[in-house]
This record gives sequence, C-alpha cells and structure tokens, in this order.
Amino acid sequence: MDLPLVARGKVREIYDAGDDRLLLVASDRISAYDHVLPTPIPDKGRVLTQLSVWWFEQLAPVLAGFGASHHLVSATDVPADVAGRAMLVRRLDMLPVECVARGYLSGSGTVEYSRTGSIRDVALPAGLVEGSRLPEPVFTPSTKAEIGEHDEAIDFSAVVSAVGAPRASELRELTLALYRRGAELAEAAGIVLADTKFEFGVAPDGGLVLGDEVLTPDSSRFWPAATWSPGSVQPSYDKQYVRDWLTSSGWDRVSPPPELPDDVVAATRERYVTAYERLTGTTFA
Ligand code: ATP
Ligand code: MG
Repeated sequence: MDLPLVARGKVREIYDAGDDRLLLVASDRISAYDHVLPTPIPDKGRVLTQLSVWWFEQLAPVLAGFGASHHLVSATDVPADVAGRAMLVRRLDMLPVECVARGYLSGSGTVEYSRTGSIRDVALPAGLVEGSRLPEPVFTPSTKAEIGEHDEAIDFSAVVSAVGAPRASELRELTLALYRRGAELAEAAGIVLADTKFEFGVAPDGGLVLGDEVLTPDSSRFWPAATWSPGSVQPSYDKQYVRDWLTSSGWDRVSPPPELPDDVVAATRERYVTAYERLTGTTFA
C-alpha cells in the first residue's frame, strides 16, 4: 500500500486516496476501556468492514428520504493488500458531534440515569434498569473526544451551538430514523440493537453525509434477543465479553492491558462472525 497515511486511530488507518477520497482500513486490533489490546482478533477488520458496507446499502433509502447520502464509494476498488477490510469513501468535513441513539438503557446511559434520572437533557421514566427498553428511542449526543480523552454526553443545546439549529434538528431526526431502521432489521435477525453511534460529515456541496463505520459491534451494542432480560449486563455480540474478561483478569485499566488467551480470542471472533452472519443472512468467508 503506497498511499499517504492521514491518521491512525486505535483500530483503523486512514489514507489519502486522492480526488477528495479517503481509504479507511480496519485492522484486527481491538480496543477496550480506551486501550488497544496487545492481542488481535483474526478477521475482525474484514467482518466489521463487510458489515458496515452491508448497512450502508440497507440505510441508503432512509438517508435518501432526508436528502442525505453515505460516504461509501467502493469496497472492492481498493489495494489488494487490504482487500476486504478497506472502504474507499468520500472525504468529508466531519461534524464535531457523535450522534448516539439509544433504544435501551445501558452502560454510561445507566450510570447517568441512576444518578440523575435522565441522560443530559433527555428525561426518562422512573424505574428503568440496565437493559431496559426505552419507551421511545432517544438521541443522546456526545462530544468527539480528542485522542486520550473520553467522549462526554452533551445537551441538545450544545449540538445547536456546534452546528446550528437546523442542522442539529436534522442530525437528531436522521439519527433516530437510522436507528429505527437498523433496530428493525436487527430484530428480524433475532438481535436487539440496544444503542449505536453515527458520525456525519458535510460534502463539498453542503449535503449531509453519513460517514465512518455504521452499526458494527465497535459502534453499537448488539444483544441476542433470545436472552434479553433487563436487570443486569446483557450477553452481547460486541466487546462486552472482552471487557468482562479483562475485568475478571484483575487488570487495573491503567497499566498496559494483558494478552488475551486463545480461547477468549476465539470466542470473541466467533461473536463478531455470528453477528455478521445473523444480520446479513450470509456466511462469512
Ligand atoms: P478511536 O481510535 O478512538 O476510534 P478515532 O475515532 O479518531 O479514534 P478511527 O475511528 O480509527 O479513530 O478513525 C476514523 C476517523 O475518521 C474519525 O475521526 C472519523 O470521524 C473520521 N472519518 C470517518 N469517515 C470520514 C470521512 N468520510 N471523511 C473524513 N473523515 C472521516
Ligand atoms: Mg472512531
């Protein structure tokens, strides 16, 4: 691969592909608690890229209904050495907001709800627990943290300050519409889409464009519908399994994280592949 490197995230590399295009390359690295683990998960980059590509196709009609589009140009016209785990995309001016939609209460949402009864300015009914289904999906945006910082939930008014009122409303409505469609397709596959995060950018013509990766286990919580049972942490197809193993290993979340044992690697890979196969209805090859 001889394209210039633009940036290296925890799990992806971004290359300049000329003509206002970028090549997003997903690696097999896995991160947890803001650390990259020393042990890669075989095929993770390909599974997440192929799942994202599948979702872009599924979501195109929803985007079109809002006069918006997605950034994917091609997943096949990519350099051979990264084939299968790379997406050629339109280069966007990314909006400085992480557009989070939640249909279920979980994770940082539960933590904040337990303290305040709401998630920032979004009031929620009393009596919810970890894993509860919300009466309606909610938009709970967060900041796009600089490297080493944590994303922080923000009020809708902060989105208005960042991008203006019309675009803020557009982001909220589009995020919720995409979540609803994603949750509907996931439900048909026996999977609960508990929450997810989208990133949008603006094209040179001013149009709103869905960027980044979409509805992958790295950006979403996917739970097997069959075992959904509010009241505790849900079994999942995302990296909750790895987080739980890390916690049980006694790792302090500060020092360099430990190597994952082979069985944890295999079980994690299996979760990603199963999520892909159930959602898309195709065999992962
Ligand atoms: P982290 O490792 O914590 O995820 P990160 O989000 O910076 O850090 P990546 O997710 O690997 O790292 O990198 C993706 C970056 O590319 C994000 O900053 C994202 O906003 C940006 N991005 C995604 N799609 C586009 C696009 N079409 N045009 C420009 N930037 C994009
Ligand atoms: Mg990212």
